[in-house]
Amino acid sequence: MSWLSDIARPEIVALKPYEHASWEPHLERMHANELPWRSDADDSDAGLNRYPEPQPKELVARLASLYGVSKDQLLVGRGSDEGIDLLCRSFCRAGQDSILVCPPTFGMYSVMAHVQGAGVVTVPLKVNDGFALDVDEVLRQCTPNVKLLFLCSPNNPTGNTIPADVILHIANRVEGQSIVVVDEAYVEFSSFPSLVPQIEKVPQLAIMRTLSKAHGLAGARCGTLMANAEVISLLRKVIHPYAMTQLTVEAALKVLQPSQLPLMNERLAAIKSERQRLFEALGKLAAVKRVWPSDGNFLLAEFADPDRALKSSRAANLLIREVRAQVGLPRTLRISIGSPSQNDRLLESFK
Ligand code: PMP
Repeated sequence: MSWLSDIARPEIVALKPYEHASWEPHLERMHANELPWRSDADDSDAGLNRYPEPQPKELVARLASLYGVSKDQLLVGRGSDEGIDLLCRSFCRAGQDSILVCPPTFGMYSVMAHVQGAGVVTVPLKVNDGFALDVDEVLRQCTPNVKLLFLCSPNNPTGNTIPADVILHIANRVEGQSIVVVDEAYVEFSSFPSLVPQIEKVPQLAIMRTLSKAHGLAGARCGTLMANAEVISLLRKVIHPYAMTQLTVEAALKVLQPSQLPLMNERLAAIKSERQRLFEALGKLAAVKRVWPSDGNFLLAEFADPDRALKSSRAANLLIREVRAQVGLPRTLRISIGSPSQNDRLLESFK
C-alpha cells in the first residue's frame, strides 16, 4: 500500500469502511431491518424487500471474465460516472489536489473534481492535428499535486483513439505520483484494442468500461472500474455498500448471458456500418464543412450554420448534441449514430 498511500487522500487510506449486514443467502434474514414480505407489484427475481448484495459476486465474476481481469481488480458501480466520482473523492484533497483533463472531452471529470473541491488542470487537444494529445504539455503540467489524469479513448466528442504507446509512456512518467485513468466507454465501437490487459503490469493505470453503450444498458447504470487490486480495495471502502440496485444486477446479468453476445455483435456491426454511411453522406452535404472520423458511436461535424442544423433536426423530431461551448469546437455538433431510418431522416433534415 506504500505507493498508494502517497497518492490517495490520507483520510481514505485510514478510513474504516461501513460494516454492512452480513451476506449469507443460505440463512433467513432478520438482521437488516427489512420487511419479510415483498410487494405484490415487485416482479424482480430476488425480491426488492431485501437489500442487494454489496459488490454482487456473480456480476463481478461475469464482468471479470468479460474484460479478462481477476475479481479483485474490478469494482462495479452506477455507471462510469460513479467511478469518476469515487476516484476524485478518494485521491484529491479539497483545495490542494487537482485532476488533469484534455478538452474537448467528457464533461463529468471536471464536474466531479469541482464537487470534491479539487482543481482542474486543462491541456487542450491539438485541434489541427486530429485532436491528438499534447503529450509534452501533459507531462509538463503533471505536477505532484495532480493526482488523476483522465484520458478518454476513444474520446467523446472528438471520436479519436489515443495510441496505447502514448498512454503507457505517460503512465510510466507519472509512476508513484498520479493515477492515469483511461475512459474506454466507447472502445467496443473501435478497431483498437482495450488497454485492460496492461493493468497487470502498470499499477498506476485504471480503466473504466461501461454497459451503457455497446451493451445497450444505459438505463440500468452499470459501469466497471479496473485497476491494481490495491486501488480497487481502497475504492471499495468508499463506494456505498448498496450501490448496485437489485434491478440493475438482474438486468446486467441477463444482458451478459453468452446467448446475448451474437445480438450485441450484430448491433455493433450495424452501428459501425451506419457510422461509415453517415460519415460519407455528411461529408457530401453543403451544410457540413467538415466531419471527423470516429471510433465511437457518434460523429463530430462542423456546420456552416449550426443553429440552422439544430433547428432542422429538431423539426424532424431528432435531437443532436450541442458541443460548441467546448474549447476548439466553435461550429460543431455531435451526432449519435441512430437506426438506419433515423440517420436517413437526419440527413434529409440537413439538405
Ligand atoms: N465516459 C464517457 C466518455 C461518456 O461519454 C459517458 C456518457 N456519455 C460516460 C463515461 C458515462 O458512462 P456511464 O453511463 O457508464 O455512467
